Parts: sequence; C-alpha cells; structure tokens
Amino acid sequence: ANPVQPGAQAFDTRAIQQLDSAHYLHPFTDFKDLNSKGARVIVRGQGIYLWDSEGEKILDGMSGLWCVNVGYGRTSISEAVYRQMETLPFYNSFFNTTNVPATRLAAKLVEISPPQFNHVFYTGSGSEGNDTNLRMVRRYWDLMGFKERHTIISRHNAYHGSTVAGASLGGMDGMHAQGGLPIPGIVHIGQPNYFESGRGMTEAEFGIEAAGWLEAKILELGPEKVAAFIGEPVQGAGGVIIPPATYWPEIQRICDKYGILLIADEVICGFGRLGAWFGSELLGIKPDLITFAKGVSSGYIPLGGVLVGDRIADVLIGQGGDFNHGFTYSGHPVACAAALENIRIIEDEQLVKQVANVTGPYLRRKFASLRDHPLVGYADSYGFVAGLNLVRKKAEVVHDCELFTPELAVGMICRGHMFNNGMIMRAVGDRMIIAPPLVMTKAEIDEMVNKIRYCLDKTLADLQERGLA
Ligand code: PMP
Repeated sequence: ANPVQPGAQAFDTRAIQQLDSAHYLHPFTDFKDLNSKGARVIVRGQGIYLWDSEGEKILDGMSGLWCVNVGYGRTSISEAVYRQMETLPFYNSFFNTTNVPATRLAAKLVEISPPQFNHVFYTGSGSEGNDTNLRMVRRYWDLMGFKERHTIISRHNAYHGSTVAGASLGGMDGMHAQGGLPIPGIVHIGQPNYFESGRGMTEAEFGIEAAGWLEAKILELGPEKVAAFIGEPVQGAGGVIIPPATYWPEIQRICDKYGILLIADEVICGFGRLGAWFGSELLGIKPDLITFAKGVSSGYIPLGGVLVGDRIADVLIGQGGDFNHGFTYSGHPVACAAALENIRIIEDEQLVKQVANVTGPYLRRKFASLRDHPLVGYADSYGFVAGLNLVRKKAEVVHDCELFTPELAVGMICRGHMFNNGMIMRAVGDRMIIAPPLVMTKAEIDEMVNKIRYCLDKTLADLQERGLA
C-alpha cells in the first residue's frame, strides 16, 4: 500500500478492488469484465490532477465527468458546505417553505442566464432535469388548451440522462435496446455530425441540411402534435459533436415557425464550458427551457435543474394549479450552498472570459496541431471541449479518410494507452474527446497536448505491432 501524500492514510488497493468487485455495480459498466480486472481506485484530487491508490498522478482531461469546472480541492466550497450542514443540512421546499441557499441561488442563476429566464426548478441531477422538462412542456400545452401537443423531438446519439424519460429523450441505441425504450411520444432525427454525414457539402450547407430534418419530422407528425425540440448545443457524450454555425439558428427559425418550444440541454455546455455562461448564447438560440447540472456545483455536491423561460413560467404561474412534480432533494440547501460558492469562484477568477478569450483559443490552436499526427483524421474544439477522430488512413477531404472497423475498438485501445500514461481522455467509438477543468492554464494545456501526442504515438506503435495500421 502506498500513501498518496506524506502523512496520508495508506490504501490497500487490492482490498478495495476486492470489495468493489464483490459489492459495487458501476454505472454503464460490463460488471463481469470489470471484476476480472479490478477498478482503478481514485483517492485524491487537486487542481486538474487526480491520484490513484498506487500514488500515480493523472491529468484529468474530462473534469471528472464533464463537471469539475473549477478543479479539485477548492477549500472554500468544502467550507461553504460544512457551514451549511452545520446550520441546516436539509429541509424540503414542498409545503410552503423555502431555504436561504436555494432562493439565493435561483436569483443568481437568473442573473447569469439569458434574459428570458426568470425562474428555476431544482432537481438532483441532469436526468431528473430532463424528466422535469418532459412533464413541464406537456403541462404547458395542456394549460394552453392543446392537449394533443405532447410529442418531443430529439436526435440520434443525443445524451439526456439515464432515467426512463432521460434515456428515451436521448438517442443512444444501446440504451434504447435495454428496457423497451423510448417511451411513446418521443421521436428522433439525425444529428449534425459533419464528419459522419456531411460528404459533398460545405459545413455551412450541411448545417442547413441537418436542421431541415427537424422541419421534415414536424411536417410528418403534424405541427399540432409537436410540443418541443430538445438538443445539446454541442453534443457531449455522443462524442463532442460540434455543429456547423448555420445549424442552431436554422433550428430556432423552424421552432419559431411552428410555435414549438425549444429545450437546450446545457448539462455539459453550461457554466463556462463553451466560453459563455450558457452555450445557447454563443450558438444563436433563445431556448424556452435550459437543463443544467454538473458545472453548476462543479460536481462537489449533486445538483441539477431547469431554467424556465417566461413563455412557460407566465402560463404555469399565471393559470395557477399544482404542478404535480418534484424531488425530495429539489433545492437541497447544501447543494445550493456549494453551487453559490462555485459560481462565486467562476466569477471571481473570470473563468468564463478566460475560456472565451485566452485559454479556449489557446487550446483550439494546440489541439489543432495534433492534426498532423498519422492517426488523426479530423480534430475540432469549442471553448473547453475538443475531439479528434482516429483513422486508418488520412485524406485531404475528411470524408475520404479510411476508418478502422468498429470491431477493432481502436478508441478503447487508445484510451488504454492514455489511462496507463497518466492521462484521462475518453473514447466514443474512434473519437477521442476531452473536456478539461476551466482552470487549466496555458502551461497545463501544453502538458496535456504533449501527453495526448505521446499516447497517440504509443497507440500507433501498438496498432502497427498488431498489423492493424
Ligand atoms: N444531459 C446531458 C447533456 C448530459 O451530458 C448528462 C450527463 N452526462 C445528463 C443530461 C444527465 O445528467 P445526470 O447524469 O446528472 O443525470
């Protein structure tokens, strides 16, 4: 057992792994496969780094799970949490009561969000936020007297969470295949993935084409049946799919034309990730609802929710009557206290501006420099998300790149080399993605991109050895 810090508690890695295999069913995991290897035990974090129970230092290119925007080890958040726990660890907001952090945070969220937002509904997670959206848009149309207007249009390969509604709104085939999803009233259109589907078009042309799929679907269903369209401004878990600049304004135009509500799922894109408080501001949309989670509290304590735009809030509040929906942990005082301090840090350190004007552009330049690597067919970034496609053979026109067959799982091979060399980079098929903490400095970006290049070299050598490249 190796202590991670001098004086720190020692960890018996094998013992933890055995308990883990015996009792802990991990999310999105092949339990049998994991048990045969044993999980890596993460024990500490500071800044952009993690340490495992063997004392290995790891650069966290994924901000935990797209959430630790202010980095690890923020004492002021722990202190705010401790103070709130001492004062009032819990009380609900159901029966004509409220609490101070939840109220203050609601006002703060309204202050930093686009002008159409003046209200907040809290949940414990992003998934629950999207469940809330589904119920809220249907309630809205019922109150408006359009009870047929219940269908929600989403996109293939979208990720909107893991609850029944969240997984149905999402467009992940692997999730739909388990448990008979999606539930009725949710349909999907194609995603704006230029690398995959844009052959023969400029990016701008492809953006208009892909947005047109929404109009086609609305006309197929009948506009009087369609309640809302939901999308992530930049798709995250689907592989950091950055849409052409023409895409979202055209989606907005189509939603407006048919009076359809627009839901921006900003669980990843919110709180500075793209270089604005909310990605919607940069991508040219004016959503009616915004789902948030993750970066709102930098993941220190679970928290999620929905920003509710005036168009909906005016009806829900104006017409009265209970909205029969809510969670024990809606407006949890400790989670809200953590979020308030997290947002104070983001403001105080000007992290949104930093990503927009300094480190985001720097990351874009550095990440683009990886395009000269023999394995990299396509690489792009937006603010502090980035992705690159591993290809068998590069080509001048990205759509002419020769791909690896999916069965080879080259992305997973590459992820393995990253993981074994102290770098966390996620694989989505053969696309390798990052979403680093917003506190990352230029020097740390250099270090990260160097590590990525080193691991790409290792991957290439490995593939060559196996006769695959
Ligand atoms: N929406 C998006 C866009 C997400 O990325 C996620 C989580 N990765 C969720 C919803 C679900 O959030 P949670 O895991 O907190 O339920």
